[in-house]
Amino acid sequence: MDTLVIIGGDAAGMSAASKVRRVHKDKKIIVFEKSAYTSYSACGIPYFISGLIESIDELVRRSPDEFRNKYNIDVHTEHLVLEVDTNGKRIRVLDKQNNTEFWQPYGQLLIATGGKAYCPKDITGYDAENVFGVTTLKSGINIENFIEDKKPQTAVIVGGGYIGLEMAESLLRRGLEVTLITKGAQVMNTLDPDMGVLVTEALQVLGVTVYLNESLKGFVLEGNTITEVITDKQNLPADMVVFGMGTSPNTAFLEGSGIELGVKGAIKVNAQMQTNIPDVWAAGDCTETLNMVSRQHIHIALGTLANKTGLVAGSSIAGEQAVFPGAVGTAVCKICSYEVARTGLQEKELNKLGIEYAATTVDSLTRANYYPGATKIVVKLLAEKNSGRLLGGQIIGQEGAAKRIDVLATAITHNLTLQNIIDLDLSYAPPFSPVWDPVQTCARKLIKMI
Ligand SMILES: Cc1cc2nc3c(=O)[nH]c(=O)nc-3n(C[C@H](O)[C@H](O)[C@H](O)COP(=O)(O)OP(=O)(O)OC[C@H]3O[C@@H](n4cnc5c(N)ncnc54)[C@H](O)[C@@H]3O)c2cc1C
Repeated sequence: MDTLVIIGGDAAGMSAASKVRRVHKDKKIIVFEKSAYTSYSACGIPYFISGLIESIDELVRRSPDEFRNKYNIDVHTEHLVLEVDTNGKRIRVLDKQNNTEFWQPYGQLLIATGGKAYCPKDITGYDAENVFGVTTLKSGINIENFIEDKKPQTAVIVGGGYIGLEMAESLLRRGLEVTLITKGAQVMNTLDPDMGVLVTEALQVLGVTVYLNESLKGFVLEGNTITEVITDKQNLPADMVVFGMGTSPNTAFLEGSGIELGVKGAIKVNAQMQTNIPDVWAAGDCTETLNMVSRQHIHIALGTLANKTGLVAGSSIAGEQAVFPGAVGTAVCKICSYEVARTGLQEKELNKLGIEYAATTVDSLTRANYYPGATKIVVKLLAEKNSGRLLGGQIIGQEGAAKRIDVLATAITHNLTLQNIIDLDLSYAPPFSPVWDPVQTCARKLIKMI
């Protein structure tokens, strides 16, 4: 039986489905998706909540009906896959609307179940009516409805990762008083501490109260409503609470399937996105990723990688030659007027790997100093001591700062040295950069140090 069955109908799953359909016009493709949506952008949820995007429907790239009618892909929403039987080549599915279960056979299977947000279920009140995770479109709708109905004045965000920070912007824009707590010594722990501190300062300038080194311990509840967040240091008033405590791969239902799991329970795959079990493939946030700099497997939950690995999985399933080489860990985020970007390895990772490196930062400007709107940009580069090979880059600044990280990501991917970066023929005009782009200014400073 040649049916392709896909579990998960978002970025990775539907990229693969679409690719297979483009190559094989008549292949039977069945998708099971536990929510009501397909191909949606969770990345847009903070901007829906801030009011920048009017309707949640704008975040849906292709609806289930479009996949069914235009692409002949048999999409079943509100269907939760409970179990994978790799010996019998079948999956156990719960039809949530009718509350009935059935076994679905497959010829080939793609697992694209994404990740799930961490939720502190050991703390009483984790499921109170005014506490929210930010994961699915439904969670975005729930937050929006709550803000509209209850008009909260104060919010506590638990977690200092990029989702917590983006939510801080959304809630500030909705006029709430926002407090962010994180158990780490800095926000955005994918940055080095000297860059992380700049993000904390930016948050404070924007009006967010930030408490570092502070852990969530509990909630003060009135009925099913949280009124205060209890940390190990104080009680904070909260009309609403948002969790941004990280995600883990959604793979618990694979227990007993024989499918090999690795870092954080993510599915182990080869460069074609094939698992250890014949005819079983995986892509997106539920899989491990090879870090091309450290050559170690890690778990990164990003839409960029979900789309790419979904496409590679689809190509492989369709019988084409495709390879996903891995990632260098490139990510950007925005908090109001501030842009934050990172790629490659950070100092703690280089120290752990025993790689000798040098690092430096420069303060520069996003435009020529005389051009209106020029703002400060801080660039940090990390390079291998003897070879000068670029190993990492971090950028913080205002408009026009973040996307400069793509030059550095390209450099790291292709093993460029600081001299190679200095030699790059990058563009210049006063509205876009100083005549030496800040990334090149930083490379010139660092090359002198090594
Ligand atoms: C608020 C927010 C902002 C983000 N911003 C960015 C950004 O700016 N840039 C970026 O690169 N990434 C961003 N991301 C991450 C990005 O959204 C994810 O990496 C991407 O959606 C992963 O795609 P995926 O298909 O692997 O998994 P998912 O999008 O999680 O999709 C998996 C699907 O599988 C379904 N599913 C899970 N288990 C089952 C089951 N057992 N049975 C049936 N269906 C199941 C789920 O309902 C889900 O629809 C953001 C995420 C969030 C939450």
